[in-house]
Amino acid sequence: MQTSFTLAQLADPEVAESEKILRTCVHCGFCVATCPTYVLDGNELDSPRGRIYLIKDMLEHDRPATAEVVEHIDRCLSCLSCMTTCPSGVHYMHLVDHARAHIQRTYRRPLGERLLRASLARLMPYPQRFRLALNAALVGKPFAPLFAAIGLKQVAAMLRLSPWRRPGRLLTPQRFAAVGARKGRVALLAGCANDLLAPEINAAAIRALTRHGIEVVVADGADCCGSLVHHMGREQEALAQARANIDAWMAIEGLDAILITASGCGTTVKDYGFMLRTDSAYAEHAGQVASLARDITEYLATLPLEADQNARGLVVAYHAACSLQHGQRITRQPKELLVKLGFVVKDVPDGHLCCGSAGTYNILQPDIARRLRERKVGTIERLRPDVIAAGNLGCMTQIAAGTKLPVVHTVELIDWATGGPCPPALREYRPRSAMRPSAAAG
Ligand code: SF4
Ligand code: SF4
Repeated sequence: MQTSFTLAQLADPEVAESEKILRTCVHCGFCVATCPTYVLDGNELDSPRGRIYLIKDMLEHDRPATAEVVEHIDRCLSCLSCMTTCPSGVHYMHLVDHARAHIQRTYRRPLGERLLRASLARLMPYPQRFRLALNAALVGKPFAPLFAAIGLKQVAAMLRLSPWRRPGRLLTPQRFAAVGARKGRVALLAGCANDLLAPEINAAAIRALTRHGIEVVVADGADCCGSLVHHMGREQEALAQARANIDAWMAIEGLDAILITASGCGTTVKDYGFMLRTDSAYAEHAGQVASLARDITEYLATLPLEADQNARGLVVAYHAACSLQHGQRITRQPKELLVKLGFVVKDVPDGHLCCGSAGTYNILQPDIARRLRERKVGTIERLRPDVIAAGNLGCMTQIAAGTKLPVVHTVELIDWATGGPCPPALREYRPRSAMRPSAAAG
């Protein structure tokens, strides 16, 4: 694609990077058919190619974002399906991140939207504040239909997605010793929302790792990865959160890897080197952290895991989180691990399409998110699985809101199959095939 940025514009490293990305696009349109928002409505401006044109026009003319640009960029899930499809290697993620930061700088959203976005950015990455919000949501949850009826769809979506149970306990900074001889040492990102919403995920990861001889450190000062605000265009807040994590992890000696159980966060941590490339004080350490970052299944696949008999035969519909399959290109390891440990794994048809979770997308764009969830849940339920597994809490929450099937994190199944307890969601559920005593015993 030809561009016409001036030399003065190209002096800005962000613009120079975007220009480089734009030039790699050859307008072929292969990406269009695999974009979930295009698949839903068939609007070219809600396709990757359409968005690329809008971004090019906005950046080239260095003009403030218009309502039209904002509408179509806001509808993008950042699922990165287009990056998997693109034969030219267009780095859409960095391009849309730049566009979102430009929108945040140059566009004044209506008051209600500004308030909602500011609340999400100031609550969710901070566990103590988020805990208060979740407790308040427990009280407000029964009124979700009322909020929807009076047009406050985003508030209704937030309440519907919040759990019925009280927030869990946070993982505090500490060290979990390896069982037996130590074979490795890793840091685990506790994350901001994970332990409040589903403490069983990190607990399962720690059990599975330590059982296989890996020491696990939860670093003091490592909190939110920054992805939540990053995808809202709040660049400086995201970079501040990234720097805090880098400081926390660089203070730990002898790390073999930095493990992340939420693949949305993993994609961002793996991008720290790029995000901080122009920060001379952090660029080097950011690159080191990015090169150590691993998804939990990526790391577990390198260990000699041994199966217990508990899980044999349970039918698992594996939902590939976009951030894992498109963002990190991890497609094999989670399924291979599950098969190796005795589960029957079924691929979800149209698995490249997003479930509609996408960080805060299911709150900010509730209608599209609901349609994507209905589509996803329909394809999953047709498989008649006993359980749904995914590697990202956001997807788990989104899918669980639309089905009665139990939804667990992949690592919960791995932990269970290697000697850990039965995942709580499975203990409460009575699946057809798990009725047999061997499958449900924990
Ligand atoms: S990131 Fe996903 S929603 Fe956005 S343009 Fe690419 S395929 Fe479409
Ligand atoms: S597939 Fe790649 S090169 Fe083709 S239009 Fe999409 S982004 Fe551009």
